[in-house]
Amino acid sequence: MIYDENNIFAKILIGEIPCKKIYEDDYVLSFYDINPQKKIHALVIPKGKYIDLDDFSEKASSEEMVGLLKGINKVAKKLGISVDTGKGYRALANISEHGGQEVPHLHFHLFGGEKVGKMVE
Ligand code: AMP
Repeated sequence: MIYDENNIFAKILIGEIPCKKIYEDDYVLSFYDINPQKKIHALVIPKGKYIDLDDFSEKASSEEMVGLLKGINKVAKKLGISVDTGKGYRALANISEHGGQEVPHLHFHLFGGEKVGKMVE
């Protein structure tokens, strides 16, 4: 599969579409989900052009991998939902068709601020 340069997160990354930014560094951008499913619903995306977690795992550099994981932790701390700043959260990545992925740029959902409930409906 080829990365779709016109996907909505690619447009957010280049500033063509606005977002409610939470955090940004060399490796990630984080912003609030436009249609929150829980009290806190953030998205964390890598700056590199990766379709999904499989694509990222195969092609990303070690630095990018560390950057993404550290980014998730930094966002969770900033939002007060990490283990040390809050009561925890769920990090979730949907992958392709059976995973229910709608936007073809890798993203982690961070759900928190309340109990997030059953893992799979
Ligand atoms: P997924 O189904 O895992 O691909 O999730 C895509 C997520 O992106 C959904 O939760 C949408 O609500 C969210 N979303 C779509 N467009 C935007 C946008 N412009 N800004 C923020 N979140 C968005």
